[in-house]
This record gives sequence, structure tokens and C-alpha cells, in this order.
Amino acid sequence: MSKSSSNIMALAPNTSNKRETVCIFGTGDFGRALGHKIIQSGYPVVFGSRSTQTSNLIPKDAEVLSHAEAAQKAAIIIIAIQRQHYNFLTPLAEILHGKVLVDVSNNLKINQYPESNAQYLAQLVPGAKVVKAFNTVSAWALQSGTLDASRQVFVCGDDMEAKQMVMDIVRALGLTPLDKGSLLAAQEIENYPLQLFPMWKFPILLSLGLTAFFFFYCLTRDVIYSYVYENKDFSFFIAISIPNRICPILALTLLALVYLPGVLAAIIQLYRGTKYHRFPDWLDKWMLCRKQLGLVALAFASLHVLYTLVIPIRSFVRWRISSRILSQALNNETEPLNTTNAWLSDSYLALGILGFFLFVLLGITSLPSVSNNVNWREFRFVQSKLGYLTLVLCTTHTLVYGGNRFLSPSSYRWYLPNAYMLSLIVPCIVLVVKFVLIFPCLDKPLTRIRQGWERNPQYSE
Ligand code: NAP
Repeated sequence: MSKSSSNIMALAPNTSNKRETVCIFGTGDFGRALGHKIIQSGYPVVFGSRSTQTSNLIPKDAEVLSHAEAAQKAAIIIIAIQRQHYNFLTPLAEILHGKVLVDVSNNLKINQYPESNAQYLAQLVPGAKVVKAFNTVSAWALQSGTLDASRQVFVCGDDMEAKQMVMDIVRALGLTPLDKGSLLAAQEIENYPLQLFPMWKFPILLSLGLTAFFFFYCLTRDVIYSYVYENKDFSFFIAISIPNRICPILALTLLALVYLPGVLAAIIQLYRGTKYHRFPDWLDKWMLCRKQLGLVALAFASLHVLYTLVIPIRSFVRWRISSRILSQALNNETEPLNTTNAWLSDSYLALGILGFFLFVLLGITSLPSVSNNVNWREFRFVQSKLGYLTLVLCTTHTLVYGGNRFLSPSSYRWYLPNAYMLSLIVPCIVLVVKFVLIFPCLDKPLTRIRQGWERNPQYSE
């Protein structure tokens, strides 16, 4: 049977009203929870257990029999038992011949065994049709009815008909089966529930590392230096001033890191003259977590906005303003309005507001509920064009903030430049390279390469 026809089959619901008995081996937490749900969906359920005594915990409409007796009553048997106990199935091989065995098991570690649990089950009972399913659904979610967050059930197996039967049950439970192909996919499906936010690992570790670095950098420059050279105690900067320096630095750097891999990929493609050669693994992984990097950047930008809003009510700021007014009054002089400074300050704020607005827009369009409603061109327009515009606005916001302080020797303490200067390094590199890539002499060949043209076919795989 061709793959496409099997997919069509997978989409077609079972129109027959007759529900076949489902057998569940194991009356543990998962077996009971799944049994309860399957009974609610209209299937008769029979449990196969080491003890045929029923208890209050077992759904009252279900029968509890020995494994051999229960297996004879159904064509589908769900093995709700840990993998290490599977060897009790070997003596039952004859009874299980031709039956659909559903492996729901999970492991404690990623790639714990050389073969997947489902493949192991298929080896133990060679005459059975093994299907992997339900392992990403928890007993708790089945019992409490909180299945909204995990409606997808990955299904895989070598026998199309068996897989179809299991997918019908999945649909009857109100869940969505996702056909992952043959039993070879079982290992990946078994590893799936063990992953902890895989796409978030790099962005979170990177931001933690950068936060720690910039915290100590700012602490050295703004607190320790002042204490050593001016004997002033600015340790309270740790509460608001330093976080309000770190947040915009991280927001800008991480936003630039969202666009840096795209620029690197373009350089690699231009150099190789083909798109048919895989990028290095690190670049592939980096590209895959761009959305998460962008969302972490947005979180830092939002914190920066909140910290900035409280500046006027800070005791230190109010003290500084009143001292300046007092000193003007005592000296009987009024500082004239510096229009250049007023321009710089207003432009800096305006750029920040616009940059943050676009930043939020980028964040909103990356949400699946929104991105599902725009076509590919619209999505690219927002994420690429508006993304670069956000980067330009935020970089300019920081450049204007720096003003003419870049060249002032007083901005360097222990030869360390102000932290915001460091935050400009990656964004400026990205913007300059991107600007160079726009030149027709580079843009044209790059566009052709991305359309499939090859300059150096020896690079293609
Ligand atoms: P459990 O509460 O420990 O129950 C396992 C059942 O296996 C027992 O109640 C027992 O049933 C049977 N059993 C135990 N030792 C046996 C042996 N030596 N020989 C034969 N049968 C034996 O485990 P569970 O949480 O229900 O999990 C069952 C399976 O579902 C596991 O593979 C697990 O990875 C998978 N799973 C669980 C969850 C979850 O949320 N719990 C989620 C997804 C997948 P009897 O006393 O009736 O024989």
C-alpha cells in the first residue's frame, strides 16, 4: 500500500458503530485510567492481570481475567506494563499470534535500551502486530480530563491495518492520532516525553551565562569601582540599576542572535555555491531555536520597559533631581534648556518605544495560533523584514543612548567600556553583513542558489 493512500486511510474515521472489545494487560495506574476512558468511549474492556480479583479501583464495567483468557476476547491488546516485565508474554506467544499489541511504555532515560520497547516487544512476540501509541499521554491527564495540552498521540507500526485500528481508538477517545510511520520511529516517540523543553535549553543557558557575565561586569564597573576610587556605596544599584542595564543588553544581543545564523547560512551558501549541502550541526540547531531565542529576548525587553517605568519613583533619582535644583537655587542660576540633549533624549525614547512595539508584534506572530492564520509570505515578511526593522530600531536606540559618551575617557573604568557598548557588537555585525548581502552582486547569486542553482556541484550531496 502506498504511503499516500495509507495517510488517507488514517484520516478516514471508522464509521461502523460496533465497537470491538479492547483488552488491557496490567491493572496499574495507566491501564486503569486508559481502560476507564476507553469504556466511556463505548468499547467493551477486558483486563488481563496476574490477579483476577477485581477491586474498587478497576472500572466497574470491565472484566478482569487471566492474561490468556483476556487475550482471547480481543483483537487489540494494550500492554500497560513496564518493559522489564515483558518476558511473561513469551509463553503467551501462541495466543497472541496475529493480535495487535499496543506498546504504551516509556523509559526513565533517553535511549535507555539499544532497541525501542516496541521493537523489543515485537521480538518477544514475533507473530503479533506491534503498534506504539499512547506513551505521551499521562494517566493523570486521562483521569482528570486535562488532555487539552497533549491531544496528539504519536502512533507508529509496521502493519497498516493494525495501526488504523489503534488510530480509531485514539480518535474515539477524543484525541488526535499522528502517524509517525513504521516501528523504527518508536525510539524517537519513546524519547519524546523525556525531553525537557529541548528547544529552550540553548536560549535559556545562553541567557543565564550572559546574565551572569554582565552582572559581574556591571557590578565591577558601577559598584566596586565607585567604592574603591570614590568611596561611594552604590551597592543598591544591584536592585534596579544593574538589572535595567542587563535586560536591554540581553534583549538586543539575543535579538541579534536570532538573525546571525541566517546571515551565516547565506555566507556559507554563497561560499559553497549550492544549497544542497547540509549546514554544520551547530548551525542547524541554532536555526531551530531562533523562535525561542526571540521570545527570551522579548522577555528581557519587557523587563527593561518595567524597570524603566519605575525610574521616576526611585529614591536615588528623586534625590539627584532635588540636589540639582537646590544647587541651581543656591548658586542663583538656571540651567538653560539644551535642545540637542532634548532631541537626543526624545529620539532615544521614541526609538525604544517603536522598537518594543515591533518586538511585541514579532512575539505575537510567532505564536502558533497567529502564525497558523498567516500564509508563508506574510509570516516571512513579519519575521524577516519587520524583524530586521526591530533590530535596526533597537540598535539605534542604544547608539543614541550612548550619544557622544562613546569617545569620552570617563566612560571607561579600569579600561572597561560601558556595558551597553558591548551589547552593540553582535547587532552591528549582523546589520553590516546583512547590508552587504543586499548588494546585487551578492543578492542575485544568493537568490539563484536558493532557487536551486549550483555553482559548485561537487559540494552537493
Ligand atoms: P504500574 O502502576 O506500575 O502498573 C503496571 C502493572 O503491570 C501492574 O499494575 C501489574 O498489573 C503489571 N505488572 C507488574 N509486574 C508484573 C510482572 N512481573 N508481570 C506481569 N505484569 C506485571 O505502571 P503504570 O504507571 O500503569 O504504567 C504502565 C505502563 O504504561 C508503563 O510501561 C509505563 O511506561 C506506561 N505509561 C504510563 C504512564 C503513566 O502516566 N503512568 C503514561 C504513559 C505510559 P497486574 O497486577 O494487573 O498484573
